[in-house]
Amino acid sequence: PAPVEPPKIKRLEESVVNRIAAGEVIQRPVSCVKELVENSIDAHSTSILVVVKDGGLKLIQVSDDGHGIRHEDLAILCERHTTSKLSNFEDLQSIKSMGFRGEALASMTYVGHVTVTTITKGQLHGYRATYKDGMMEHEPKACAAVKGTQIMVENLFYNMIARRKTLQNAADDYPKIVDLLSRFAIHHINVSFSCRKHGAPRADVHSVATSSRLEAIRSVYGASVARNLMKIEASDNDPSSSIFKMDGFISNSNYVAKKITMVLFINDRLVDCGALKRAIEIVYAATLPKASKPFIYMSITLPPEDVDVNVHPTKREVSLLNQEVIIEKIQSVIELRLRNSNESKTFQEQL
Ligand code: ADP
Ligand code: MG
Repeated sequence: PAPVEPPKIKRLEESVVNRIAAGEVIQRPVSCVKELVENSIDAHSTSILVVVKDGGLKLIQVSDDGHGIRHEDLAILCERHTTSKLSNFEDLQSIKSMGFRGEALASMTYVGHVTVTTITKGQLHGYRATYKDGMMEHEPKACAAVKGTQIMVENLFYNMIARRKTLQNAADDYPKIVDLLSRFAIHHINVSFSCRKHGAPRADVHSVATSSRLEAIRSVYGASVARNLMKIEASDNDPSSSIFKMDGFISNSNYVAKKITMVLFINDRLVDCGALKRAIEIVYAATLPKASKPFIYMSITLPPEDVDVNVHPTKREVSLLNQEVIIEKIQSVIELRLRNSNESKTFQEQL
């Protein structure tokens, strides 16, 4: 065979490297919404409004009433690895905020057009700045603003032709965005959420801040779901294992659905845990005779050192220290709760 010349190795341009990395953090419109809403929650907002146009490809706009961003920080806001939430590696152990990598906003500026409007407490007016490829495009302009921050991302993936085409051909992300906001709304019940399509008269998610979890679930998932839920709780203070607390709502035997809904927060982070989900499905199938797929809302608290949060931003799947023990404990609590409710139901039917 003819000898093949080795191809020359070249260093990629920084802008190309950044765009590739950004495309990994922001994989689709719903990942952009998740990052923006988590930033709003981290900013202690009590109201978060999301507006979406063309499944998020044309426009994603998230407005909050949080603490805002300082004028002097606007210049570096969208650079890679700029954050107010983490300063050294050790902080990762105890981090309470959802963000910490300082990557999300930067990534958005490499794959879309970002406009930030923000005002901090005590200021007479706000500022607006636009960003591209990690850089602020011009000095922030003074503008009217009420409270908090509004971030607009336009023309997502305008510079990633293949990604845009795939997304345009697939069903749009709007249902995924509604699902995401619904999940946030039943966990962060002290925050009101709204999500609508641009120009639509009414919101598809609309929650009002409340002190009742069940009330929040009713307003987001409907009365027919809320009516058939039971509260569950568990905790474990056995010093030999890890300390964990769990509370939530699970559907009873009257609930009917073709598919499981599992809304899981671990240390206030929205996550997926396939092993736990399967374990719960097994309990339902074994305990309830006419097994319907359950509705589960569950919030688990663990010592921060038992959960590795330093995962890739798009990875929602987590694994925990002592996972088997925790799953068994949750299984037995659910089984007991289902049996008790089933017995009292049979008993009532006999009366
Ligand atoms: P991270 O959340 O990991 O810190 P981001 O790129 O998402 O990184 O955000 C960078 C910084 O911008 C945050 O640390 C925060 O200080 C600020 N920020 C972003 N969004 C908001 C917001 N809605 N309100 C107030 N500050 C915000
Ligand atoms: Mg963030």
